[in-house]
Amino acid sequence: MKIAVVGSGLVGRLLAWQLSQHHQITLYDKDFKTAKHSAGFIAAAMLAPVAESVIASQLVVGLGQLSVKLWPNILSQLKQPVFYQQAGSLILAHAQDRGDLTSFCQRLKLQDGLTQVNSQQIAELEPQIQGRFHQGVWLENEAQIDNRALYQALLHALVNAGVQQIETTHADITDNRVYANGEQTDFDWVFDCRGLGAQVDLKKLRGVRGEVARVYAPEVKLNRPIRLLHPRYPIYIVPKPNHEYVIGATEIESDSDKAMTVRSALELLSAAYSVHSGFAEAQITSLDAGLRPSLPDNEPAIITDGKCIRINSLYRHGYLLAPAVIAHALNLFNQLSEQQTRYFYQAEQLSESHFSQLTGHFEGK
Ligand SMILES: Cc1cc2nc3c(=O)[nH]c(=O)nc-3n(C[C@H](O)[C@H](O)[C@H](O)COP(=O)(O)OP(=O)(O)OC[C@H]3O[C@@H](n4cnc5c(N)ncnc54)[C@H](O)[C@@H]3O)c2cc1C
Repeated sequence: MKIAVVGSGLVGRLLAWQLSQHHQITLYDKDFKTAKHSAGFIAAAMLAPVAESVIASQLVVGLGQLSVKLWPNILSQLKQPVFYQQAGSLILAHAQDRGDLTSFCQRLKLQDGLTQVNSQQIAELEPQIQGRFHQGVWLENEAQIDNRALYQALLHALVNAGVQQIETTHADITDNRVYANGEQTDFDWVFDCRGLGAQVDLKKLRGVRGEVARVYAPEVKLNRPIRLLHPRYPIYIVPKPNHEYVIGATEIESDSDKAMTVRSALELLSAAYSVHSGFAEAQITSLDAGLRPSLPDNEPAIITDGKCIRINSLYRHGYLLAPAVIAHALNLFNQLSEQQTRYFYQAEQLSESHFSQLTGHFEGK
């Protein structure tokens, strides 16, 4: 079939690659092929179903647990290597914020792989911050991915699969028609993966602004993502390959994609320095702001509009959710197009209850 995927951020490029196994794909983006302004490029890319269960629903937690299992299989099918690690995450609080740690543990909906850790255990996990923290929680099953390497590896796979990529082109969608560069093109099916760009059709979609700093810190050696609980400045520090760290993230109800504010930069970097003084000598490689696409309930949704399937509202959980949500979207696509095509994912892993929640009632377009 002739299929358009509009938006080559996280969801669009992963989906286009899946679909390219069996179909003729055209992939549009208003950005360059690298999609450096997409939320997925800016993200920290933690896969943290347990830590996120403090704020996320059972649906997000369940889809997240499935995605953590799916990612290694997906990455093994890409020709270019992508760093993926399941070494857990460490949740810490300074002594005066002990209450935040207690509250965090009480609000968890999932306790999978959770261990309370003391100073000595923290030192074993993260020798360089020995003595700084006396209490914490280790979530040993949580994972992380190098999102920028993933973007690059998927781009390479898309080129190899012969996907037609139309970059720097704003596209509008009506049913199975795409309007771009003053022309209308008809497809058998269209997938809308425009993230916040779908606001034009999903009127209740909003942006939740997130700011992150990327730093090069050769003096710092942290082995896994660390979350610092703090009443005013909660942050995470996510190690990436080649001594890079992502320090984030603010969460602001705003559609503004302006550059990071001085206040946010000060808060993020000061909090990181309070975890590890080695960040004092780090080089700031970028200060970025991205918009997390979110419907009012912050839940992922798969919405059918004639022959257009919209995948959206992955909010702050794009990496945590994308493999599972895309698997469900492909399942729906099979049903609607009356096909039994098998993609990289095994469809029998999917929960019917998740499927009906993702594709169910949606008001307020
Ligand atoms: C600071 C920050 C940190 C994050 N950290 C994490 C994390 O640790 N773990 C996690 O799971 N998730 C995280 N996320 C969330 C994750 O990045 C998003 O949920 C995910 O990127 C959403 O994917 P998407 O493909 O829907 O949107 P995007 O990745 O934003 O992609 C949308 C694409 O559509 C294109 N587009 C838009 N409109 C049009 C149009 N009209 N025509 C053509 N193209 C168009 C855009 O250019 C863009 O390339 C984070 C997000 C941010 C901002």
